[in-house]
Amino acid sequence: MSRPLPRDSVALMEGYHSPQIDVDVRLNTNESPESPPPGFAEDVAAAIAEIEWHRYPGRSATELRTEIGRLHGVGPAQVFAANGSNEVLQTLLLTYGGPGRSAAMFEPTYALHSHLSRITGTGVIEGERLADFSLDMDEVERLITEHRPAVTFLCSPNNPTGVVDTEAQIRRTLELVTDTRGILCVDEAYGQFADFTAVDLLGSEVPLVVSRTYSKTWAMAAARLGYVVAPEWVVAELDKVVLPYHLDAMTQIAGTVALRHLDAMNERVARLVEERARLMAALADLPVDVWPSSANFVLIRPRERDGGEVWQGLVDRSILVRNCASWPRLEGCLRVTIGTPEEDDRFLAALAEVLT
Ligand SMILES: *Cc1c(COP(=O)(O)O)cnc(C)c1O
Repeated sequence: MSRPLPRDSVALMEGYHSPQIDVDVRLNTNESPESPPPGFAEDVAAAIAEIEWHRYPGRSATELRTEIGRLHGVGPAQVFAANGSNEVLQTLLLTYGGPGRSAAMFEPTYALHSHLSRITGTGVIEGERLADFSLDMDEVERLITEHRPAVTFLCSPNNPTGVVDTEAQIRRTLELVTDTRGILCVDEAYGQFADFTAVDLLGSEVPLVVSRTYSKTWAMAAARLGYVVAPEWVVAELDKVVLPYHLDAMTQIAGTVALRHLDAMNERVARLVEERARLMAALADLPVDVWPSSANFVLIRPRERDGGEVWQGLVDRSILVRNCASWPRLEGCLRVTIGTPEEDDRFLAALAEVLT
């Protein structure tokens, strides 16, 4: 028999590639090197013991949304939470994108912005960044006025480059998006590292959503929880589109309990910033180009060696970093998550060995 075919946009697609290889030192997916703060797991276990397992979880996740809202100074009706910020972004595209509409992004940036656009049948409009990977505001203006995308993505700090967009750049992009009746999504997965948050630009008639995740600096990648802060009318539309009861009771509990440990979470961010400075200083002595980073990872490019070979050399030494070879515009680059000092020392020693 001939097999049924998936939709054209799916058939043409490559899946998400980030190999999960069993190694000693995992610096490839920007997770926190530390587990959540002491007491977190016990608090979650105690709350999970109280779950009424025969009942569906609260569909509107009111307690979780209330606590997240409190964190950002907004009410629960301005918060939409889902299974990782990836599900949040997918829901946004299912709501505002789709066939006949387009989404704009400025490459190189987080691969899921274009990937999720394609999956949801949304046209993809790729803009270019400047050579130092900062936003090219002429390009932003040209793309938005010419194509009038339904959704425009920014990512600040940007994955995989670590570059932050300035407040002026975000404000200007928001003006352009507003004038063309689109919606701006600022992905702040690494927002804890930046001085400015686009949450400060939210307003009841402002077409802006700001997405955040528990996965990275908050040390909760295993839970799959992300959210957007947005105007109430956006949240109301997202709630219509997402599957009912999509956010299970355990995830809701984990997300609520985590917010009681906020100080400890913030201390981790400070430790990572210190460790990042130490790692960057050590990298400066090796034959690699290093981009300045405002996130919990750094982008590097070996000057004299092929990036793929260096990646393999590190894997051979039980260290996994992200090989950016398949990432257009990032040929030869590697993205390295900031680990513990011990992990980073092992990485530095292995890198020095591979490069000499
Ligand atoms: C990791 C990441 C996400 C996705 O995180 P989830 O684990 O799905 O919450 C979203 N945006 C960026 C820029 C990321 O790096």
